[in-house]
Amino acid sequence: MDWSRFPREKTDCILCGSNFSRLLSVQKTWPVVRCSECGLVYLSERPVEKALTDMYSRAYYEDGDVGYRGYLQTFEKYHDTFMKIFSGRHRDLLHHARGRRLLEVGCAYGFLLDYLDRRGWDVQGVEISPLSSEYARDILGLDVYTGSVESADLEEHSYDVILLLDVLEHLHRPSDILRRIRKLLSPDGILVVQCPWELYHWEEIAEAILRGKRPGTIEPDSIPAHLYFFQPRTLDAVLKNAGFRIYARQSGNYGSIRRLIEPPEINRGNPIERFSRFVYFRLGLQRFLYSAARLLHLGNGMIRYAIADEDGQQ
Ligand SMILES: [Zn+2]
Repeated sequence: MDWSRFPREKTDCILCGSNFSRLLSVQKTWPVVRCSECGLVYLSERPVEKALTDMYSRAYYEDGDVGYRGYLQTFEKYHDTFMKIFSGRHRDLLHHARGRRLLEVGCAYGFLLDYLDRRGWDVQGVEISPLSSEYARDILGLDVYTGSVESADLEEHSYDVILLLDVLEHLHRPSDILRRIRKLLSPDGILVVQCPWELYHWEEIAEAILRGKRPGTIEPDSIPAHLYFFQPRTLDAVLKNAGFRIYARQSGNYGSIRRLIEPPEINRGNPIERFSRFVYFRLGLQRFLYSAARLLHLGNGMIRYAIADEDGQQ
């Protein structure tokens, strides 16, 4: 798919409203800027919101240039790894949630919902992509609505948990969606948000260099699907502005799946390169750094647990 062809719109900073920014780079014709006021990194030109249904089509889930490569096949092939990830998520949810009514906003094919459904959660999903939401409904038999959480007919003040996993960075109007989510949560309900760390996280830089790419040539493949590139401070600010209070933070990483799908080639290049790759990938340096990063909240996946702040905005 030609990702530069979508009709585009200009936008100011969604966090502070400023239109002063510094251009960082142009990726696949899309300008990436950093807000001069609040530091949020975002696309100052982005595909129009109407283009979303077209964007999250088969190409997004299969081609691998912006979204995923062979989403369904990857899930089937690495089923055990996904089950481990889901099991960790399930454990975390049991720890945080007060009830079992759960809504996942942006549930894609519904694999996590299916896992939780089988473990006694009362699950519902919302997904903008007709392709993946249809799979969740027809193949997995889940209660999934195709469209936006704003137009879905959902019961207000009823959900104990709302999941927003790898979704916030795709939304044109994150504050509107977060406010809608606030209304859907039960009085004890929690919001779980996960999103990737800004543009160039240390894991990606280290991995790219070890895979033989020159620094400076790394192109984030998520553009223009990702409209923002959060860091802990800007992510927390978006949630706070929409009336949420963050009460717990977790750090994860996306590396385990990526390493499986694209295993690095160790025996290539000069002896120093080969040795570095061997130490990093095979002798466990990468795993050690991942674990240390998680403990220090420096993993490339940022996870936040939040509740509606009674003093926050309505
Ligand atoms: Zn700003």
